[in-house]
Amino acid sequence: MALLQIAEPGQSAAPHQHRLAAGIDLGTTNSLVATVRSTQAETLPDMEGRHILPSVVRYSSDNVEVGEAARLAAPSDPLNTISSAKRLIGRAIGDLKSIGDELPYEFISADSAVPRIRTVAGDVTPIEVSAEILKVLGQRAVDSLGGELSGVVITVPAYFDDAQRQATKDAARLAGLHVFRLLNEPTAAAVAYGLDRGADGVHAIYDLGGGTFDVSILRLNKGVFEVMATGGDSSLGGDDFDDAVAAWLLEQAGLSADVDRGTLRHVLDRARAAKEALAGSETVEVEIDLPQGGSWHGSLSREQLDSLIDLLIRKTINTCRRVLRDAGVSADEIEDVVMVGGSTRNLRVREKVAELFGREPLVDIDPDRVVAIGAAIQADVLAGNKPGDEMLLLDVNPLSLGVETMGGLTEKIIPRNTTIPVARAQEFTTFKDGQSAMAIHVVQGERELVADCRSLARFELRGIPPMVAGAARIRVTFAVDADGLLQVEAREQTSGVSASVEVKPSYGLTDDEVMDMLQASIDHAQGDMVARRLVEETVEARRVIEALTAALATDGDELLSTEERKVVDDALGNLAAIADQSKDPKIVEAAIKQLEKDCEFYVERRMNSGIRKAMAGHRVDEFASQEDPEAK
Ligand code: ADP
Ligand code: MG
Repeated sequence: MALLQIAEPGQSAAPHQHRLAAGIDLGTTNSLVATVRSTQAETLPDMEGRHILPSVVRYSSDNVEVGEAARLAAPSDPLNTISSAKRLIGRAIGDLKSIGDELPYEFISADSAVPRIRTVAGDVTPIEVSAEILKVLGQRAVDSLGGELSGVVITVPAYFDDAQRQATKDAARLAGLHVFRLLNEPTAAAVAYGLDRGADGVHAIYDLGGGTFDVSILRLNKGVFEVMATGGDSSLGGDDFDDAVAAWLLEQAGLSADVDRGTLRHVLDRARAAKEALAGSETVEVEIDLPQGGSWHGSLSREQLDSLIDLLIRKTINTCRRVLRDAGVSADEIEDVVMVGGSTRNLRVREKVAELFGREPLVDIDPDRVVAIGAAIQADVLAGNKPGDEMLLLDVNPLSLGVETMGGLTEKIIPRNTTIPVARAQEFTTFKDGQSAMAIHVVQGERELVADCRSLARFELRGIPPMVAGAARIRVTFAVDADGLLQVEAREQTSGVSASVEVKPSYGLTDDEVMDMLQASIDHAQGDMVARRLVEETVEARRVIEALTAALATDGDELLSTEERKVVDDALGNLAAIADQSKDPKIVEAAIKQLEKDCEFYVERRMNSGIRKAMAGHRVDEFASQEDPEAK
C-alpha cells in the first residue's frame, strides 16, 4: 500500500519557512485552538484573554454571535441559540428522535436527510453551526500567528462514524480551513503527553466533560495508536454534578425543587462555581438570592460534594470496567491513564480513577486544553515543520474495503482513510435454511453496488453446519497490516470452521484511479442510494416471502381456513410480483408493509397456538420484522 506522504521530503523546518498550523478541539460544551510556537504547544486566547470558547452560536437577524456572548444569551433566546451542534452533526433526521426531543430548537423535516434548525436568520444545519465556531477559532489563530494557516487538525470523538467525521470536515471547509486530518480526541490527549514517543503499550483516556463522558483504550503499536475499545455516556458529565449540588442547595435554602427558571439558573450557576472552587479548597461559602427577596448564606464542604456526586462517578468507573473488558485487557495492563475534560479537576474523580487502575492518572496538562494541545502537535508535524527524520508518514487505506452481501450490495468493513494497521470484524448470517457454504467476495471502493467497485478476491467458507436461515453466525474479519496486506477470514462461530485469503488491496491502483473512484462515488451518490435501497427492499421482500412460505408449509393447513389461506396466498403473490418488477424502493417497502398487515392475524394465531419454533429458532413474529442481521 502506498504510504501517503504528508510533507515533501527534505522540506526544511527553517524558522522563516515555518508553516502555520493549528489544532482545534471542537467540543460539545467548549472549543479551543492551539498551536506550536518555538517547540511549545499552547492554546490561544481571544482579545480578552479567554482560551475557552463556549461552543454556542446565536443567530439574530443581522449577525451571528459565537462563544461567551451567545452562551449568556441562551436562556433569553433559546430558539436562536444553538449549543448542541456536535450532538447533531452528521446525524440524519431519523437519528434525532431521541435527542431532538430534549432540545428546544425547531427542527425542519424537509426532504433532505440533514436536519435543519429554524432561526430568525434562516434555516441552519449543524454543519453550518459548527463552521461558525471553527471560523472564530481559525481567525483567532491567524490573528495570533500573523499569517494564513496552511492547515488544521480537528479532533473528533473516537466513536464518531464516517458520516459524523465527513460532516465535521464539511464544516471546516465551510469555515475556509484546510483539514490536514481529523484526529481522535483520546489520541490527541495521548500525543499531548508524548505517549506516542514512548514504548508500545496500552493506555486509557478518561474524558469527563460538561455533558459527556468518554473512555477509550488505545494501543500504541509501532508509533500508531489503535483504538481498542471506546465507551461512555453521552448524557453524563459535570452538568449532572451541578444538578446534584443545585438540588442540595435548594433544599438547604428552603426552596422547593420547582422554583422559577430564573432562580433555578441562578442556583445552578452558584452550584457550578462552588463545585469548581472545591477543587482548590476544603469548603466554600455559597450565597443565593432568594426569589422572595433577601438571600441565603451557607457553605458546602468537599465531603458533602463527594457524597452528592459519588454515584455519578461510580457510573463512570463501571463504564471503564466494561470498556476494559471489551478491549480484552485488565486494569493493571494499562500503562498510563490520561485525564481529559474539565470535570477531571474534581479530586474525587481522580481518586476513583486512580483506585481502579492502581496508578496515579496523568494530570499535568490542563485537562481542558490537553486535546487541543495534542491536535496542535500533530498539526505542526503534518505541516512539515519537523526535521526529516521525524517526518510523519501516515499510512491509511485509500479506499473502503468490504464484502458483497445479498443482492450485489457492498458492506464496508474498513472505511477508507482508516489508519493502518487495523482489524475490523462483522457478523453475517445465512440466507437459506440448511445453507452449508458461503461465498465471500472481497471488494474495494466507495460505491454502494458491487458492480461499481473493484473485486479483490473471492473465496468460499464450506462446512457450515445445517441450520435455519439466519441462525448461523459467521464472523468475517478484515485485517490490514502495517504493510497494507489485507487478510480476510470467515469463521462460523459454533463449529469453528473457517477459511481465509490474503490480498494486496492497492495492487495496481494508481493515485489517479483512486481519485477517479472517489469522484465517481460522489457523482453517483444520489443514484446509488436509490439503487441500494431498491436492492435492500427487494432482498427484504424475498426474505419475508421465503419465511412466510416456510411457515405456511409447517402449519398453514392446520391454522387457516380455506378463505384465510387465500388471503395469505394473495398477499404473497402480490408482494412477489411487486418485488420482481418495481424499480421504486418505496413501492416495495409499502408492499411489504401491506403484506404484514394482511397476514397479521396469521402471525398472531401462530403465536397463540404456541408454535414458537416453527421458524426454527426464531420467534414467529420475527418473520416479518424489518430488523434482521445482514442476510448473506
Ligand atoms: P466538554 O468536553 O463537554 O466541552 P469540558 O471538558 O470543557 O467540556 O468540561 C466542562 C466541565 O468541566 C463543566 O461541567 C465544568 O463545571 C467542569 N469543571 C471545570 N473546572 C472544574 C473544577 N475545577 N472542578 C470540577 N469541575 C470543573
Ligand atoms: Mg471535551
